[in-house]
Amino acid sequence: MSDIKQLDSEYVLPTYSRNYTEFTHGENATLFDINNNDYIDFTSGIGVVSVGHGNKELSSAIAKQASELIHTSNLYVIRSQAETAEAIVKQSGFDMKCFFANSGAEANEGAIKIARKYGEVAGEVKRYKIITLDKSFHGRTISALKATGQEAMHNYFGPFPDGFSYANSLDDIEVMIDDHTVAVMIELVQGEGGIEALDKQKVKDLAQMLKSKDILLMVDEVQTGIYRTGEMLASNYYDIEPDIITLAKGLGGGVPIGVVMTSHKDILHAGDHGSTFGGNFLSTRAALTVLNILEKEKKSGELELTVTYFELALKKLYTKHKHLFDEMVGFGLMRGLRIKEDDVLSKIITSAHAHKVLVLKAGRNTLRFLPPLTIKESEIDEGFKRLDNALSSL
Ligand code: PLP
Repeated sequence: MSDIKQLDSEYVLPTYSRNYTEFTHGENATLFDINNNDYIDFTSGIGVVSVGHGNKELSSAIAKQASELIHTSNLYVIRSQAETAEAIVKQSGFDMKCFFANSGAEANEGAIKIARKYGEVAGEVKRYKIITLDKSFHGRTISALKATGQEAMHNYFGPFPDGFSYANSLDDIEVMIDDHTVAVMIELVQGEGGIEALDKQKVKDLAQMLKSKDILLMVDEVQTGIYRTGEMLASNYYDIEPDIITLAKGLGGGVPIGVVMTSHKDILHAGDHGSTFGGNFLSTRAALTVLNILEKEKKSGELELTVTYFELALKKLYTKHKHLFDEMVGFGLMRGLRIKEDDVLSKIITSAHAHKVLVLKAGRNTLRFLPPLTIKESEIDEGFKRLDNALSSL
C-alpha cells in the first residue's frame, strides 16, 4: 500500500494543514486509527457527525437507499426530499419551505439569491445590500466568502460581488442600513469566529427593528442548527422568526447536504435556482433518518441530560486549569474555552491529539468542542480524563 502521507502530498491540493493520523472506523464518539488506537472525538468532523460514527440506524438506512435508488435529478419528485422538508419545517416550528443544496456555503448562496430577488421584486427601489457581522463565517464560495466578515479571507480572490458590509456588533447595524439594504445575515453563535453567542435580547430587538423596516433577517444555522445548541434550531432558543435560515453540517450525519428555508415561499420560481445533486434520494434519506433519531433524543430528554453532563465535565476541567483559560463560552453541545494566551492553543490541540482526544480551534483563542449529540457519559468521562492529562503535561 502506498504511504498515505506521500500519496496525499503528491495528489491532493494543500489547502489544509493536515494531521496524518489515518482513521479507519468509529463507534459513536470514538474513532479508531489504522493501528486500532482509539481516540475520543469531541469534534464530530466539525459538527457533522451528529448521531455518532458508525450509527447503525443511519448506515442501514443509507445502505438500503443506495441499493434501491441514489439519484434521479430534481426533474422528478423525490419522496424522501419532501419528507425531509416536512420534518425540518415541523421540528423547527417555522412556516417555511425548503430548497436542498449540498453544503453550507451553497445553502448560503441560495439564501443570498432569495434576498436579492426579494430586493428586486418587493418595493419600488432595487435593494441588494446585505449586512453581516465582523468575525462571521459563511463559507468559501465567492459570495459566501464576501459575506464572511473576516477581511484576511478576502485576499487574492476579488473582484467580489458588491453589496456586502460588516457590522462590528449588533448595535452598529441600524445606522448602516440605507435605502438599498435588503437583508442582515448573522450566526446566533459564531462558530469559526470563536464560539461567540449573541445576546438574546439584542437579537430579539434586531429582529423587530428589521421587520419594521421590511429588511430580511437571515440566520446562518449551518453550525448551530439540527439540535447542536440543545434546540432544533438556535433560532428557537433565541425565540425569533427569521425570514431565511440555512442548514448543513449535522443534518446528514456525514452525508453532504445543505438547506435554505424561507417563509417567503413565493419568491423563487422554476428556473431561478437549482442543483444537480441537491436533495437526492441518498442525502435526504440520511437527513430524514438523522432528524428522526435526534427528535427522539430531544423528546425523551436524553439530549438535555447529555448537554448537562458535558457541561459539568467541561466546567470541572476549566476550573482545574484556570491558569490557561479566561472563560467558558457557548451552550448546548457547541462549547468553547477561551485561552488566555493565543499561542498556547495549538500546543493544547497537539497535546490533546497525543493523548488521543480530538478537539478543535475556533478563531484566534478558543478551544472548541462539538461532540456528537449522541455522545455517551463514559465517552465524555474518558475524553475529559485524557484532556486533563494533556493539559497537565503542557
Ligand atoms: N456557515 C457556517 C456558520 C459555518 O460554520 C460553515 C462551515 O464551517 C459554513 C457556513 C460553510 O459550510 P460548508 O463548509 O459546508 O460549505
